[in-house]
Amino acid sequence: MQRREFLRLTSFAIGSAAFVIGIQPTKLAGAPPSSFPAHEGFGGQPPEALLDGIGNVQVNPEIVMRHSVCMGCYSSCGNRVKIDKKSGRILRVMGNPYSPKCAEPTLKYEAPLTAAYQAFGLAGNLGHTHRATVCARGNASFQAVYDTRRILTPLKRVGQRGEGKWKPITWEQLITETVEGGELFKATGDSTYIEGFRQVRNLKDPIHPDSPELGPKANGLVWNDGGSYGRVNFPMRFVLNSFGSINFYGHTGT
Ligand code: SF4
Repeated sequence: MQRREFLRLTSFAIGSAAFVIGIQPTKLAGAPPSSFPAHEGFGGQPPEALLDGIGNVQVNPEIVMRHSVCMGCYSSCGNRVKIDKKSGRILRVMGNPYSPKCAEPTLKYEAPLTAAYQAFGLAGNLGHTHRATVCARGNASFQAVYDTRRILTPLKRVGQRGEGKWKPITWEQLITETVEGGELFKATGDSTYIEGFRQVRNLKDPIHPDSPELGPKANGLVWNDGGSYGRVNFPMRFVLNSFGSINFYGHTGT
């Protein structure tokens, strides 16, 4: 391969990489452009910022970038969410350079957001230093927000167990039935009386008179935590401190 051809292909590859991350290298030196230019050719998305070759950053005023945490699985990696300011829609999720789960080395917390943008660029010979990534699932995590099958309201069983019949109910109905109890599934032919939180939260009487070692009736509330990582302190505070049950365990608990 001729040297000239090699250089041409190399510069194309660098340009393509910048295209993928939505950052467009402009010129190699000089002040950033005075207004954000029209954007085309970024996979249908507006870029979040422009960088020049000496590290000047021009942020796109139409885009909001938020540094947050991915809840795609239990690893709780940092992430960086790109949001269209006008519509409020999430456009993309990417790595968070302040998170040790995304970048090595990480940016220091006190580093300005400008540095997070510069981590995308080529200025200062940063290479891939601080350039953060999330896994494929983390990149796709925002699709859960717009999934047409996303459950947005409480569902109550209206058939036999396993029949898969449910109906949407209001949050008010959910709270009333959970707190007050009653014959909650009478419509299905099951007239079993189910105690609500109000009856179960009894800190004086034993849960079973013959087995006082099991503690008070309030221990009848058992919380099997599923995936509230990052928010687990909320249900823990409710179950252990407010309600008074000792029976809180996670899905990995034994
Ligand atoms: S980025 Fe991937 S590994 Fe990290 S929390 Fe999200 S889904 Fe899990």
